[in-house]
Amino acid sequence: MGLLSGRKTVYVDSDVLVIGGGMAGCGATYEARYWGRDLNIVCVEKANIERSGAVAQGLYAINCYMGMQWDENQPEDHVRYARNDLMGLVREDLGYDIARHVDSSVHKFEEWGLPIMKDPETGRYMREGKWQIMIHGESYKPIVAEAARKAASKVYNRIMVTHLLMDKTKANRVAGAVGFNVRTGDFYVFRAPAVIVAAGGASHIYKPRAVGEGMGRTWYAPWSSASAYALPILAGAKMTQMENRIVLTRFKDGYGPVGAYFLHLKTYTENAYGNEYESNWYENTKELVGDYIDRHPVPTCLRNHAILEEVKAGRGPIRMVTKEAFQDPHKETIGWENFLGMTIGQAVVWASQNIDPKHTNPELTTSEPYVMGSHATCSGAWASGPEDYAPDEYQWGYNRMMTVDGLFGAGDTIGGTAHKFSSGSFAEGRIAAKAAVNYVKDLGKGRPQVDEAEYQNLKKEVFKPMENYEVGRNEIVAGTVSPSYLLPIHGLQRLEKIMDEYVGGISAHYMTNKPLLTRGLELLGMLKEDLDHLGAEDLHQLQRAWELQHRVLASESVTHHTMFRKETRWPGYYYRGDHMKLDDKDWHCFTLSKYHRETNEWEMEKAPVYHIVD
Ligand SMILES: Cc1cc2nc3c(=O)[nH]c(=O)nc-3n(C[C@H](O)[C@H](O)[C@H](O)COP(=O)(O)OP(=O)(O)OC[C@H]3O[C@@H](n4cnc5c(N)ncnc54)[C@H](O)[C@@H]3O)c2cc1C
Repeated sequence: MGLLSGRKTVYVDSDVLVIGGGMAGCGATYEARYWGRDLNIVCVEKANIERSGAVAQGLYAINCYMGMQWDENQPEDHVRYARNDLMGLVREDLGYDIARHVDSSVHKFEEWGLPIMKDPETGRYMREGKWQIMIHGESYKPIVAEAARKAASKVYNRIMVTHLLMDKTKANRVAGAVGFNVRTGDFYVFRAPAVIVAAGGASHIYKPRAVGEGMGRTWYAPWSSASAYALPILAGAKMTQMENRIVLTRFKDGYGPVGAYFLHLKTYTENAYGNEYESNWYENTKELVGDYIDRHPVPTCLRNHAILEEVKAGRGPIRMVTKEAFQDPHKETIGWENFLGMTIGQAVVWASQNIDPKHTNPELTTSEPYVMGSHATCSGAWASGPEDYAPDEYQWGYNRMMTVDGLFGAGDTIGGTAHKFSSGSFAEGRIAAKAAVNYVKDLGKGRPQVDEAEYQNLKKEVFKPMENYEVGRNEIVAGTVSPSYLLPIHGLQRLEKIMDEYVGGISAHYMTNKPLLTRGLELLGMLKEDLDHLGAEDLHQLQRAWELQHRVLASESVTHHTMFRKETRWPGYYYRGDHMKLDDKDWHCFTLSKYHRETNEWEMEKAPVYHIVD
């Protein structure tokens, strides 16, 4: 108990607690103040909201903007687009809700100082594609964070939230959260009737292509550590579409984005011999997914599929043909600026590998899978929909409330709503906050109560890895190897290997099947047992330990969902070798899971997909 006796506990009371100050969290914090002028709004963030989350480094494009003021697109168009890209399965009510509100969020960004490129002739925002507008976005995150900072009663930076707290007076109702300050080691108890989880997606679930010295180099931010899923899962919230992990085609080794290259620079891809290859795989893909291959635009996963098959056929690598476009000095500048605004590492990789895209067509590759809810993918929590638009079955409470009372989510956290990106995540944060404020106001005096025994037990649990280290460190046998504890990095590598080999990662060519998944679950179970013995030498490692715990739980969820869906819905994201075809008859549905913490069991069910838009 030596470690705990001197550890301070800080109590923070609020009306609305926002966990994670990324795009969705900043949107939620901002909007909560608008509707809850007199409420106590707290945002807690494990880094510093100034530069946290997936947008930390900036972006070059806002990928979700309708342009309704110029009648460019309507919300229904976006629903059709996202539905097509996700092979028919999206929550149309939630997607529509974001699409109808997203433009006003983008207008706010501009008002707050974000430079958005304009077409000099029309004065409209410059489009990169049908949905994307181009920005000078290096300072995108600080601009958005400023609005949240000004709106919040208080922002607590550097606090990693580890668990949610439940109400002791009413079952299935949230009452707050606990976490620790990663700098001071103080333990925090946040008491709040409404909690909005906006903690981003998950990288490093699967073994990345870059290991060893390049291990931190992943496409999705390495600090996106699955808290968005683990926190609600542990609280008993239902999750959806967790099998729908995403694989991205990106420039090799730097994960530089390809969108601006395809859409704006009009570059195209070819195989190692300079030939077009997508048409080679048309019949093969049609055999697997039917007429989804004939849709426009071709769904993201199916474009991956053609690349994977071409490489497997021995005609890789696939290259982006940049040599032609880069002869135009304007396009050359755009090509480089595209990286400098958001993925500087790609420019550095090219420089270090002697690749000048004006003279060499750079290689593309497919990434390791990521779990997230805001890109061309829709894993996350199962949420109640907007009251004016959601079918009855999708409505059990307030908009964006999960299946736990008082627990809301936005951005990567919420499932079923692909293609929201940075702007849509911010808009969804606003939607969730408005509903959370209503929830708090409707509660009146019947507010939840926190159980002291619960958070005292959690305090012990949270700091246990430091205790394990303190006790076991004298037994170190070789540098960092100890017989009595497991370091977070070792646990992470073990997790990534299991997911990679058994649940359809890169080394298995994204292939899995029931026997593999069954073994994967057994191995995850053993890893989970060993997590009791995690050892953390300092607060930084303690954070790593809890990030690992969250990743493991999310991985288990992914594996159960992958096992449950007996079809290959998204070839190019993953394949069920024992069910290679898309099966609309049995699987045109959402998959839902609920974790029972007391018994360590997962309950799976199907939920209907309602098509609301023609
Ligand atoms: C490489 C890349 C390129 C992208 N390109 C584009 C683009 O061009 N255009 C576009 O519009 N969108 C783009 N996106 C998507 C966009 O970044 C995301 O959709 C958006 O950031 C999701 O918002 P979010 O709030 O859910 O997650 P994030 O913005 O990642 O925020 C999550 C926050 O939660 C915090 N957090 C996590 N765990 C905890 C915890 N346990 N306790 C406390 N805090 C925690 C994190 O530190 C972070 O601040 C891109 C993303 C990436 C990674």
